[in-house]
Amino acid sequence: MSTLTELYEEIALCHLCEIAKYRTRTVPGEGAENADIMFIGEAPGFHEDQQGRPFVGQAGQYLDQLLASIGLKRELVYITNIIKTRPPENRDPLPAEILNCRKWLERQIEIIHPKIIVTLGRYSMAMFFPGKTISKIHGTAQRRDTVIYYAMYHPAAALHQQSLRQTIEADMLRIPTLLAETKAVPEAKPEPQQLNMFED
Ligand code: URA
Repeated sequence: MSTLTELYEEIALCHLCEIAKYRTRTVPGEGAENADIMFIGEAPGFHEDQQGRPFVGQAGQYLDQLLASIGLKRELVYITNIIKTRPPENRDPLPAEILNCRKWLERQIEIIHPKIIVTLGRYSMAMFFPGKTISKIHGTAQRRDTVIYYAMYHPAAALHQQSLRQTIEADMLRIPTLLAETKAVPEAKPEPQQLNMFED
């Protein structure tokens, strides 16, 4: 059994939060164990809860289109959420739920060891870019050690707000360049502006 599959079994047994009572399935995440890019959304919705797979509803179909725009299929990346159980009525995740689930995400990051972590939406952004505002930092990257963190709007937000569509699509198109930067053998210290780092 792979390390990820073992982790999924542990997640399925977790009942730390009240919402565990109402779920059909846990939605741990899916994709390649050796993926270079990890996408982190917010929380499973109705369809995800039914199928036990992340981003399989409307927002997921749009995420698939965004991935296709950079020549990627979902099997080649890793997709997960900050919480692994659907909140009833698709309400926002509570701080305690995010905290309880945090250890699972940390284990996933340890196992997959992605080169780029892409946050989708405000909740996921807040975990990696505390105190920042999505309208200011979307489409910008920050390198910490060997990982590049990249903030994007949530695909569902772009679906509901036409004006964000162009923005999210343009932000997605920057990912291949960021990935190439993680793979380039640095001959000299890279210029910080190559990564479009924002001010801390
Ligand atoms: N929205 C999310 O944030 N995650 C999903 O898995 C589906 C919709």
